[in-house]
Amino acid sequence: VSALRRNHKLDAGEYKALLLCKDTDTLNYLQQQAREVALARFGNRIFIRGLIEITNRCRNNCYYCGIRKGNSHIPRYGLSQEEILACCRDGYRLGFRTFVLQGGEAPDIRDEWVVETVASIRREFPDCAITLSLGEKSREAYLRFFRAGANRYLLRHETYNEEHYRKLHPEEMSLNHRLQCLDWLKKTGYQTGTGIMVGSPYQTVDHLVEDILYIERFCPEMIGIGPFLPHHDTPFASFGPGDMEMTLKLLSIFRLMHPAALIPSTTALATLAPDGRERGILAGANVVMPNLSPQGQRSKYSLYDNKASMGAESAEGLRQLEKQLETIGYCLSEDRGDYGS
Ligand code: SAM
Repeated sequence: VSALRRNHKLDAGEYKALLLCKDTDTLNYLQQQAREVALARFGNRIFIRGLIEITNRCRNNCYYCGIRKGNSHIPRYGLSQEEILACCRDGYRLGFRTFVLQGGEAPDIRDEWVVETVASIRREFPDCAITLSLGEKSREAYLRFFRAGANRYLLRHETYNEEHYRKLHPEEMSLNHRLQCLDWLKKTGYQTGTGIMVGSPYQTVDHLVEDILYIERFCPEMIGIGPFLPHHDTPFASFGPGDMEMTLKLLSIFRLMHPAALIPSTTALATLAPDGRERGILAGANVVMPNLSPQGQRSKYSLYDNKASMGAESAEGLRQLEKQLETIGYCLSEDRGDYGS
């Protein structure tokens, strides 16, 4: 742990040993070191991002995801530009200075529509950051969104192991293409985020080591780590959820590897356990992403069962979130919270 803090890297064998380690003292030390590094860099302030789930339509059929094309049991929706802007206005009033537009890879969403949407947010909120999380697009599309005013892009690689990737996705999807997209995003100039689900079906500790080494090399500005949670209408309905301790361990490893990274304590972690969000922060996370989507649509963006979107997970519940963070000695920051700022 001390070597990781000092050198920001370990070798594959050392990462594996840490992932397998069950010694409570070592794990407490890991978390404490990660927390210290986050506190030294960011103080006790946690950045907030308003998450707007713009559509649950998707052309992909990822085996883990509740909004996969093959799930005919959810009503589909797509927000209009005006609805998205209304979410941003609500968010701005509440103190949000980053809007995250996330959605499935909707076949009916044209690149031009995304460009116009980003440009209209940029015009109305010149002081805000715009993050996109809309999946795999062409290099040209990424460039157009960037020129329209988007600043950040989240695209988890999900797993760096080819064989594992095949077990999580149908044949028409490709790990190489996803990694290619990540390279394009970074070269375009986005603050780029990648990451994985912890405990996804068939994941092994060796896969996690490959993920860690990839993230070490890629050096993303944002790292999204959350547990896999099953959704009853997917092929993975009968798999158990990812493990809290392993998720926390990975959060701490990434904090020590990359002290300046923006690392959210995810909704999935808050869904896994009532104190999940706080535990993520105490393990080194420094971002939370409350839900700013229209309340009537939230339940339709059901990536996994029982997804938290109300209370402290919601933009309206910001005061509740603030109180929860206070109990562990943290407060919310209304800064844009760009990488390196
Ligand atoms: N379509 C975009 C993409 O592929 O990046 C963004 C939307 S996608 C639903 C956002 C993230 O949700 C994925 O990267 C995945 O890691 C996560 N996710 C999907 N299903 C999940 C599940 N069952 N448990 C936990 N996370 C899940």
